[in-house]
Amino acid sequence: MMSRRFVTVFMAIFMFANVALINAQTAYLTTSVEEIAASLPARPIAIGLDVDDTVLFSSPGFQYAFSNTDGPDGTNKYGNRPLSNDQFWSDLSCQFDKFSIPKESARKIIELHRDRGDKIYFITARPPVKGEILTSILHREFKLENQPKAIFSGRISKAEFIKKHGLAIYYGDSDSDISEAHDAGVRAIRFMRSPLSNNKGKYNPGKHGEIVLENSEN
Ligand SMILES: [Mg+2]
Repeated sequence: MMSRRFVTVFMAIFMFANVALINAQTAYLTTSVEEIAASLPARPIAIGLDVDDTVLFSSPGFQYAFSNTDGPDGTNKYGNRPLSNDQFWSDLSCQFDKFSIPKESARKIIELHRDRGDKIYFITARPPVKGEILTSILHREFKLENQPKAIFSGRISKAEFIKKHGLAIYYGDSDSDISEAHDAGVRAIRFMRSPLSNNKGKYNPGKHGEIVLENSEN
C-alpha cells in the first residue's frame, strides 16, 4: 500500500507539474515561448502558422457574416449559409481583416522566429481570392519583411504546403491544423482560441497528443 506521505508527495508533484490542464476529454502538456526557443536548432528554419484564431482574432468579420441584415428586405446578404458564400470569403480577405485583432501570443512567437532569421509562412484554409489584403496586414502588424505571401489552402490539406515548403513546425488552433501537420510529419503546436471567438470549427486541445502554447488565448 502507498504510504500517506507518498500519496502527498505524489499529489504535490502532480499539481505542480507543468501539465495540469484537464478538461472533459483531454489532458495536455503546455509549453512556453522560452521552451520553444530553447528547442530550436541554431540554424534558421522555416515555420508556418495558421491565421484565424491563431495569429488573428478575426471574429469581427465572421460576426458580420452571421448577423448582418444588409441583404434584400433585411435578410443576411450572404444567404442562409454565409460560410458557403464566395462573396463572404472575398469580403473577409479583401476588407474585413481591417477589423481583425492581432493576438499578443502570436506576436511573441513570430518575433522569436523573425529574430532567428526563420522563414515564416502563414497558411490559412480560407479559399483563395483576388485582391487579398491579409498578407499586407499580417506583415505590417507583425513587422515582417521579405517573407512569403499568405497561402490560401482552401480545400487542399495544409499538409501539402507544409511539405512543399519544408516547414519544421506548424502552429494552429484547430484540430485539423494539428492533424494536417502530423500528416506532413512535422511538429505541431496548438494555439488556444479566445473564449470570445465565434469559431465553431473542431477545437479539442491535446486531441492529437500535441503540446499547447500556454497563455495563447489572446
Ligand atoms: Mg484557425
